[in-house]
Amino acid sequence: MDLAENLAHIRTRMAAACERAGRNPASVELMAVSKGQMAPAIRAAGALGLRLFGENKVQEARLKIGQCPGNLRWHMIGHLQSNKCRDAIQLFSFIQSVDSLNLAIELDRWAEKLSKTMPILLEVNVAGESSKFGYAPKAVLADFAQIAALKRLEIHGLMTIAPYSTTPEKVRPVFRQLRLLRDQCEQILAAPLPVLSMGMSGDFEVAIEEGATIVRVGTALFGPRTSSVRKESGEAEDP
Ligand SMILES: *Cc1c(COP(=O)(O)O)cnc(C)c1O
Repeated sequence: MDLAENLAHIRTRMAAACERAGRNPASVELMAVSKGQMAPAIRAAGALGLRLFGENKVQEARLKIGQCPGNLRWHMIGHLQSNKCRDAIQLFSFIQSVDSLNLAIELDRWAEKLSKTMPILLEVNVAGESSKFGYAPKAVLADFAQIAALKRLEIHGLMTIAPYSTTPEKVRPVFRQLRLLRDQCEQILAAPLPVLSMGMSGDFEVAIEEGATIVRVGTALFGPRTSSVRKESGEAEDP
Protein backbone atom coordinates (compact mmCIF):
# COMPACT_ATOMS: atom_id res chain seq x y z
CA MET A 1 0.00 0.00 0.00
CA ASP A 2 1.47 3.29 -1.12
CA LEU A 3 -0.34 6.34 0.21
CA ALA A 4 0.99 8.71 -2.44
CA GLU A 5 -0.05 6.33 -5.21
CA ASN A 6 -3.51 5.82 -3.73
CA LEU A 7 -3.98 9.56 -3.37
CA ALA A 8 -2.92 10.23 -6.96
CA HIS A 9 -5.34 7.56 -8.19
CA ILE A 10 -8.22 9.00 -6.15
CA ARG A 11 -7.48 12.53 -7.39
CA THR A 12 -7.47 11.31 -11.00
CA ARG A 13 -10.80 9.55 -10.51
CA MET A 14 -12.27 12.64 -8.80
CA ALA A 15 -11.14 14.86 -11.66
CA ALA A 16 -12.65 12.49 -14.23
CA ALA A 17 -15.97 12.45 -12.36
CA CYS A 18 -15.97 16.26 -12.27
CA GLU A 19 -15.23 16.33 -15.99
CA ARG A 20 -18.14 13.97 -16.72
CA ALA A 21 -20.49 16.12 -14.63
CA GLY A 22 -19.21 19.42 -16.02
CA ARG A 23 -18.09 20.48 -12.56
CA ASN A 24 -15.06 22.47 -11.43
CA PRO A 25 -12.65 20.06 -9.65
CA ALA A 26 -12.05 22.79 -7.05
CA SER A 27 -15.69 22.44 -5.97
CA VAL A 28 -15.09 18.98 -4.44
CA GLU A 29 -12.94 18.48 -1.37
CA LEU A 30 -11.37 15.16 -0.46
CA MET A 31 -11.71 14.22 3.20
CA ALA A 32 -9.26 11.60 4.44
CA VAL A 33 -11.28 9.36 6.76
CA SER A 34 -8.66 8.49 9.35
CA LYS A 35 -10.75 6.46 11.81
CA GLY A 36 -8.94 3.22 12.57
CA GLN A 37 -5.64 4.62 11.25
CA MET A 38 -2.64 5.42 13.41
CA ALA A 39 -1.15 8.90 13.75
CA PRO A 40 1.93 8.17 11.55
CA ALA A 41 -0.32 7.38 8.57
CA ILE A 42 -2.28 10.57 9.22
CA ARG A 43 0.90 12.64 9.42
CA ALA A 44 2.04 11.08 6.13
CA ALA A 45 -1.25 12.10 4.52
CA GLY A 46 -0.76 15.61 5.87
CA ALA A 47 2.71 15.69 4.33
CA LEU A 48 1.11 14.83 0.97
CA GLY A 49 -1.05 17.94 1.23
CA LEU A 50 -4.24 16.51 2.72
CA ARG A 51 -5.71 18.84 5.32
CA LEU A 52 -9.20 17.55 6.04
CA PHE A 53 -9.61 14.47 8.23
CA GLY A 54 -12.69 12.61 9.45
CA GLU A 55 -13.02 10.72 12.72
CA ASN A 56 -16.02 8.90 14.16
CA LYS A 57 -15.05 8.48 17.82
CA VAL A 58 -14.35 11.36 20.17
CA GLN A 59 -11.80 9.56 22.32
CA GLU A 60 -9.85 8.11 19.41
CA ALA A 61 -9.82 11.53 17.74
CA ARG A 62 -8.53 13.26 20.86
CA LEU A 63 -5.61 10.87 21.11
CA LYS A 64 -4.59 11.27 17.47
CA ILE A 65 -5.22 15.00 17.08
CA GLY A 66 -2.65 15.46 19.85
CA GLN A 67 -0.13 13.46 17.81
CA CYS A 68 -0.61 15.37 14.55
CA PRO A 69 0.43 18.82 13.31
CA GLY A 70 -1.84 21.76 14.08
CA ASN A 71 -2.53 22.63 10.45
CA LEU A 72 -5.00 19.76 9.93
CA ARG A 73 -8.78 20.21 10.07
CA TRP A 74 -10.84 17.55 11.86
CA HIS A 75 -14.49 16.80 11.23
CA MET A 76 -16.67 14.55 13.35
CA ILE A 77 -18.46 12.08 11.07
CA GLY A 78 -19.74 9.49 13.57
CA HIS A 79 -22.79 9.25 15.81
CA LEU A 80 -22.44 11.51 18.85
CA GLN A 81 -23.83 10.79 22.28
CA SER A 82 -24.93 13.78 24.29
CA ASN A 83 -22.31 13.14 26.97
CA LYS A 84 -19.59 13.68 24.33
CA CYS A 85 -20.89 17.02 23.05
CA ARG A 86 -18.54 19.13 25.13
CA ASP A 87 -15.46 17.23 23.90
CA ALA A 88 -16.72 17.29 20.32
CA ILE A 89 -17.14 21.07 20.40
CA GLN A 90 -13.60 21.44 21.71
CA LEU A 91 -11.91 18.96 19.36
CA PHE A 92 -13.59 19.38 16.00
CA SER A 93 -13.92 22.31 13.62
CA PHE A 94 -17.06 20.86 12.05
CA ILE A 95 -19.66 18.24 13.03
CA GLN A 96 -21.12 16.41 10.04
CA SER A 97 -23.25 13.93 11.96
CA VAL A 98 -26.04 15.87 13.68
CA ASP A 99 -28.93 13.42 13.64
CA SER A 100 -31.51 14.73 16.14
CA LEU A 101 -32.93 17.94 17.53
CA ASN A 102 -31.87 16.96 21.05
CA LEU A 103 -28.29 16.51 19.91
CA ALA A 104 -28.36 19.88 18.16
CA ILE A 105 -29.69 21.55 21.31
CA GLU A 106 -26.99 19.96 23.43
CA LEU A 107 -24.25 20.98 20.97
CA ASP A 108 -25.61 24.51 20.91
CA ARG A 109 -25.57 24.64 24.71
CA TRP A 110 -21.92 23.59 24.88
CA ALA A 111 -20.90 25.88 22.05
CA GLU A 112 -22.45 28.76 24.00
CA LYS A 113 -20.61 27.79 27.19
CA LEU A 114 -17.32 27.49 25.35
CA SER A 115 -17.91 30.71 23.36
CA LYS A 116 -17.73 28.91 20.03
CA THR A 117 -19.81 28.72 16.88
CA MET A 118 -19.96 25.24 15.36
CA PRO A 119 -20.60 24.58 11.67
CA ILE A 120 -22.69 21.44 11.20
CA LEU A 121 -24.26 19.16 8.63
CA LEU A 122 -27.44 17.20 9.27
CA GLU A 123 -26.94 13.48 8.65
CA VAL A 124 -29.72 11.83 6.68
CA ASN A 125 -30.38 8.11 6.48
CA VAL A 126 -31.79 8.39 2.97
CA ALA A 127 -32.24 4.66 2.39
CA GLY A 128 -33.79 4.05 5.81
CA GLU A 129 -31.27 1.40 6.82
CA SER A 130 -31.93 0.27 10.38
CA SER A 131 -28.21 -0.34 10.96
CA LYS A 132 -27.38 3.32 10.41
CA PHE A 133 -27.86 6.56 12.28
CA GLY A 134 -29.22 9.67 10.64
CA TYR A 135 -32.47 11.53 10.19
CA ALA A 136 -35.32 10.11 8.16
CA PRO A 137 -35.79 12.57 5.26
CA LYS A 138 -39.17 13.78 6.53
CA ALA A 139 -37.81 14.34 10.01
CA VAL A 140 -35.05 16.63 8.71
CA LEU A 141 -37.67 18.85 7.14
CA ALA A 142 -39.68 18.83 10.36
CA ASP A 143 -36.74 19.84 12.61
CA PHE A 144 -34.88 22.06 10.18
CA ALA A 145 -36.24 25.46 11.22
CA GLN A 146 -35.70 24.75 14.92
CA ILE A 147 -32.09 23.71 14.39
CA ALA A 148 -31.46 26.66 12.10
CA ALA A 149 -32.67 28.95 14.90
CA LEU A 150 -30.00 27.72 17.35
CA LYS A 151 -27.61 30.64 17.77
CA ARG A 152 -24.34 28.77 18.14
CA LEU A 153 -24.79 26.26 15.30
CA GLU A 154 -24.50 27.05 11.60
CA ILE A 155 -26.07 24.53 9.21
CA HIS A 156 -24.00 24.27 6.03
CA GLY A 157 -25.74 21.34 4.35
CA LEU A 158 -26.43 17.62 4.53
CA MET A 159 -24.45 14.40 4.87
CA THR A 160 -25.35 10.80 4.05
CA ILE A 161 -23.85 7.32 4.05
CA ALA A 162 -25.20 5.33 1.13
CA PRO A 163 -25.94 1.61 1.54
CA TYR A 164 -22.99 -0.58 0.73
CA SER A 165 -23.09 -1.92 -2.80
CA THR A 166 -20.54 -3.47 -5.12
CA THR A 167 -22.34 -1.62 -7.91
CA PRO A 168 -22.00 2.11 -7.14
CA GLU A 169 -24.49 2.98 -9.86
CA LYS A 170 -27.19 1.40 -7.67
CA VAL A 171 -26.79 4.07 -5.00
CA ARG A 172 -27.04 7.02 -7.37
CA PRO A 173 -30.69 7.64 -6.38
CA VAL A 174 -29.60 7.99 -2.74
CA PHE A 175 -27.20 10.80 -3.62
CA ARG A 176 -29.74 12.43 -5.87
CA GLN A 177 -32.33 12.32 -3.09
CA LEU A 178 -29.95 13.97 -0.67
CA ARG A 179 -29.41 16.79 -3.15
CA LEU A 180 -33.16 17.27 -3.63
CA LEU A 181 -33.68 17.23 0.13
CA ARG A 182 -30.97 19.88 0.44
CA ASP A 183 -32.88 22.01 -2.08
CA GLN A 184 -36.03 21.69 0.06
CA CYS A 185 -34.07 22.70 3.17
CA GLU A 186 -32.79 25.75 1.31
CA GLN A 187 -36.40 26.75 0.71
CA ILE A 188 -37.11 26.53 4.44
CA LEU A 189 -33.98 28.50 5.30
CA ALA A 190 -34.31 30.95 2.40
CA ALA A 191 -30.52 30.77 2.13
CA PRO A 192 -28.01 28.51 0.38
CA LEU A 193 -26.82 25.25 1.94
CA PRO A 194 -23.72 24.67 -0.16
CA VAL A 195 -22.31 21.50 1.40
CA LEU A 196 -23.23 17.96 0.36
CA SER A 197 -21.00 15.40 2.11
CA MET A 198 -21.55 12.13 0.28
CA GLY A 199 -19.50 9.39 -1.35
CA MET A 200 -16.96 7.00 0.21
CA SER A 201 -14.29 4.64 -1.17
CA GLY A 202 -16.77 2.53 -3.11
CA ASP A 203 -19.02 5.22 -4.55
CA PHE A 204 -17.37 8.66 -4.53
CA GLU A 205 -17.41 9.08 -8.31
CA VAL A 206 -21.17 8.65 -8.55
CA ALA A 207 -21.56 10.99 -5.57
CA ILE A 208 -19.51 13.66 -7.36
CA GLU A 209 -21.66 13.27 -10.45
CA GLU A 210 -24.69 13.92 -8.22
CA GLY A 211 -23.25 17.04 -6.62
CA ALA A 212 -21.04 16.02 -3.67
CA THR A 213 -18.87 18.87 -2.36
CA ILE A 214 -17.04 16.68 0.19
CA VAL A 215 -16.19 13.03 -0.45
CA ARG A 216 -15.12 11.00 2.59
CA VAL A 217 -12.55 8.40 1.61
CA GLY A 218 -10.92 5.97 4.05
CA THR A 219 -9.84 2.55 2.84
CA ALA A 220 -9.16 3.53 -0.79
CA LEU A 221 -6.60 5.98 0.58
CA PHE A 222 -5.11 4.33 3.67
CA GLY A 223 -5.90 0.67 3.12
CA PRO A 224 -7.68 -1.48 5.72
CA ARG A 225 -8.41 -0.08 9.16
CA THR A 226 -7.05 -1.57 12.38
CA SER A 227 -9.11 -1.78 15.55
CA SER A 228 -6.02 -1.42 17.75
CA VAL A 229 -6.21 2.38 17.52
CA ARG A 230 -9.51 2.25 19.30
CA LYS A 231 -8.32 -0.21 21.91
CA GLU A 232 -5.30 1.97 22.61
CA SER A 233 -7.54 4.96 23.18
CA GLY A 234 -9.63 2.93 25.64
CA GLU A 235 -12.73 3.24 23.56
CA ALA A 236 -15.27 0.45 23.54
CA GLU A 237 -15.71 -1.50 20.33
CA ASP A 238 -18.91 -1.06 18.41
CA PRO A 239 -21.56 -3.52 19.56
C1 LIG B 1 -15.78 4.94 7.62
C2 LIG B 1 -16.52 6.07 7.03
C3 LIG B 1 -16.19 6.57 5.75
C4 LIG B 1 -15.09 6.00 4.87
O1 LIG B 1 -15.37 4.71 4.47
P1 LIG B 1 -14.44 3.98 3.38
O2 LIG B 1 -15.34 2.99 2.76
O3 LIG B 1 -13.32 3.40 4.12
O4 LIG B 1 -14.00 5.03 2.43
C5 LIG B 1 -16.90 7.65 5.27
N1 LIG B 1 -17.89 8.22 6.00
C6 LIG B 1 -18.22 7.79 7.23
C7 LIG B 1 -19.31 8.47 7.97
C8 LIG B 1 -17.56 6.70 7.78
O5 LIG B 1 -17.92 6.26 9.00
